[in-house]
Amino acid sequence: MDKNLFLNDLKLLETENKSAVQLYNEISALAMHRLQASAKKGKCAHYLSIEFLIGRVFYNNLLELGVLEETAKILKKKGVDISVFEEIEDAALGNGGLGRLAACYLDSGAAVGVPLYGYGIRYKFGLFRQKFENGFQIEMPDDWQRFGDPWSVRREHERQVVHFADMDVEAVPYDMPIAGKRVNVLRLYQAEGSESAEKISGVLYPADDTEEGKLLRIRQEYFLSAAAVGDIVKEHERLHGDLASFAQYSAVQLNDTHPVFAIPELIRVLVKKGVSYVGAVKIAKETFDYTNHTILPEALECWDARLVRKILPDIAGILRALSDTQARLHKKRGYTRAEIEQTAIYQPKNQTFSMANAAVFVADKVNGVADIHSEIIKRKLFAAEYRHMPEKFTNVTNGVAQRRWLMLANPELCALIDRRIGKEWRQDFEKLSEFGHFICEQKTISEFIAVKREKKNQLFSHIAKQEKTQMNGERMVYAQVKRLHEYKRQLMTAFALVRLYRDLKENKLPDFTPSLFLFGAKSAPGYARAKGIIKYINEIIAKIDADDAVRGRLAGVFVTEYNVSYAEKIVAAADVSLQVSTAGLEASGTGNMKFMMNGAVTLGTMDGANIEIVEKAGEKNNYIFGARVEEIERLRAGGYDPAAYLKDHPEWAKIAETLVDGTYSDGGTGIFRELYDSLLVGASWHKPDHYFIFRDIEEYYQAILRANADYAQRERFAEKQLKNVANSAYFSSDRSVLEYADKIWHIQKDER
Ligand SMILES: *Cc1c(COP(=O)(O)O)cnc(C)c1O
Repeated sequence: MDKNLFLNDLKLLETENKSAVQLYNEISALAMHRLQASAKKGKCAHYLSIEFLIGRVFYNNLLELGVLEETAKILKKKGVDISVFEEIEDAALGNGGLGRLAACYLDSGAAVGVPLYGYGIRYKFGLFRQKFENGFQIEMPDDWQRFGDPWSVRREHERQVVHFADMDVEAVPYDMPIAGKRVNVLRLYQAEGSESAEKISGVLYPADDTEEGKLLRIRQEYFLSAAAVGDIVKEHERLHGDLASFAQYSAVQLNDTHPVFAIPELIRVLVKKGVSYVGAVKIAKETFDYTNHTILPEALECWDARLVRKILPDIAGILRALSDTQARLHKKRGYTRAEIEQTAIYQPKNQTFSMANAAVFVADKVNGVADIHSEIIKRKLFAAEYRHMPEKFTNVTNGVAQRRWLMLANPELCALIDRRIGKEWRQDFEKLSEFGHFICEQKTISEFIAVKREKKNQLFSHIAKQEKTQMNGERMVYAQVKRLHEYKRQLMTAFALVRLYRDLKENKLPDFTPSLFLFGAKSAPGYARAKGIIKYINEIIAKIDADDAVRGRLAGVFVTEYNVSYAEKIVAAADVSLQVSTAGLEASGTGNMKFMMNGAVTLGTMDGANIEIVEKAGEKNNYIFGARVEEIERLRAGGYDPAAYLKDHPEWAKIAETLVDGTYSDGGTGIFRELYDSLLVGASWHKPDHYFIFRDIEEYYQAILRANADYAQRERFAEKQLKNVANSAYFSSDRSVLEYADKIWHIQKDER
């Protein structure tokens, strides 16, 4: 893009008497007008994902275009504060880490010059907007398009028809240019044609507890897959003609199992165009790669074959055929019968299609998202495939886009880094490590402490506005912000908070540094326990808030509507990043990386990317506690008795009792009793304390106190924080995307 043309347009823009929304649309349009997608040369990668959690695009796009600062200046001259656009809400076409990762990868692909194209769904309603009423989560529809959608262009002529047995659906693309060294495109499809067609791009993750709900999910996944495959094939034919060379020019990354229908769809399309079935399977095997994001069984999709057959008979047929091909091949390769059963695409026992098995069978490469996770995949989840085809498996540790998560979120810290090592690191993030030479300097330490203070003040004033909670003074900030899920163990933090509150009240912690515990999380609407945990935390916070005995020493805030923009403010302000999942269950995490870059120490378990964070920044600059994955596996195999732990630790038993002894009220819903039972009695298909809270809680509490005591020596603590900043370069998604390009897609970045 020619920056000067844009800036000239901007100077001419009339701003008087225009609303923020109006200006937002007009300025965005000026930038869009000057943006043109880069030409496709050579091999391209396509990233298929059911979620793209892009967040607010305005500032990020101007930053990527290199015009953010000047835009702010020009607007200021016209009397417009650029921060007015903060009232434009995020487009939340995703739910959490998986969707945010997809967004960071597109950002990085463009920034480093890898031709990487995103394919997703343009949901009419994003993830619900959250409110609390009496401490309970209330969900409201997220009508994000009411602000307009100036960063997308509807491509009327590129529409396609997606066929289901009972209806045809129009897939209309909306293109969002992703600017950097290259301009790539995120193509989001909207479903049109009839009322039932429109439902397909209605909402993210519709409830799937009924047959109708399941059918809708299958339709969504197929809709995305078919539209993307149709588009990639058409583009290939336009540029290269011959389908035999398809895999030479296209890599397709399946972000988790949701887009796995793209596999049978590509085979279907190729066969229809005259390629033999065997030839089509071969092309598919060279084209697809699969990223696994979780080992939680409830997230590994298995679709009822009857339902797939009902609306997609051809696709069901191809999946069956593929399963037969697979069985023959595996037999020939010497898989045992048990191995053949485990890895089978079609599972005859329950008559389902295992989407993960289909992905692993066809994918050229299968990767996990952090070292430990990739090892677990090889050892447990896909052990049979790994035994026979070890070369299929690899790791790419997740990363986050430093442009959003550091440069946009924390210009103050960036300016400090600039003052020490110049600005080159902004283009070449590896160079950030040079900052390591300066972090023991008194000057750097005091400047860093001032930056943290400033970021806290900014966060607190935002919280005052959003949550109507005043927060002032010097405080140590512990933050746990992420989706609400039992395995992430927000409930364990809640117990620790109750303990802190009690110990402070009884004057057992005379030297405690005043602290704030910050929570942010949305719970899936149908996930009763997660919603119960939100209510429980809100109850605890209310009690602490109302108690003069701890005022000024302990506070809690549960922010509403946690999203990308909120996250930008929180990661910059926090001192301690709470990453406390049960070891083995958080595949990677990316929140942990955002905090690290901004100089929060990690207080967490040896799980996901926490392990690599600690490896880079040093264990003594972070706070590690709790059972390691081996111990968890042993405990899970037999002999874990939470009641026994509680017997040894009566203080924790008492705290667990607060779920049922009337200390906190669940408003008569019975949900606290249900939580209590899940920990001590076991409930539905889970053993008691399925996520090993009581195994880890005492160690967790001690780690919280240790960090708190260390913080009293503010400058020593700041050194630990700075060590984290200086060693965070590895966690840039630029590095991740280049690894994908190199080891998985085998594509070149643009030469400059
Ligand atoms: C980064 C991010 C996540 C992922 O956080 P984890 O701690 O890795 O689970 C979720 N939601 C939002 C809004 C994010 O920005």
